[in-house]
Amino acid sequence: MGNRAIEVLKENGIKTTHNRILILSFLLKNVGHYSTKDIYNNVKKKYMNLNLASVYNTLTIFAEKGIIKLVTKINNMAIWDSNTSAHAHFVCRVCQKIYDLQDISYLDIDIKVGKVQSIKVTYFGICNNCLKRGKASGSN
Ligand SMILES: [Zn+2]
Ligand SMILES: [Zn+2]
Repeated sequence: MGNRAIEVLKENGIKTTHNRILILSFLLKNVGHYSTKDIYNNVKKKYMNLNLASVYNTLTIFAEKGIIKLVTKINNMAIWDSNTSAHAHFVCRVCQKIYDLQDISYLDIDIKVGKVQSIKVTYFGICNNCLKRGKASGSN
């Protein structure tokens, strides 16, 4: 357990600490979108000696190394993605669910400009579920 996390840390020249191994293990095992708080809450179950600032710092280091991605900030809280494949996001302003836009074809860009290697696009709107529920009264 945590062996893969240790490998990834070493490959990226990041000093292996208990904190970092636990945080990365969680992200590798549970690929998806998480706020700093989500990750903090999950890892804290295993390791009480943890604070939110150090989790944020660790995630920032991971993002700088390309191990994870910073999707966006919602209410000043960073949202991270442990799926680093090239994909855009749609953030629902009502339920704050984050949708991956993995199926969008970037073929057009490939032909017109060059080979796309990574994407940092975030659309904001109201998802179909929320539109159906009619919670989305008014604009914004
Ligand atoms: Zn929604
Ligand atoms: Zn994503």
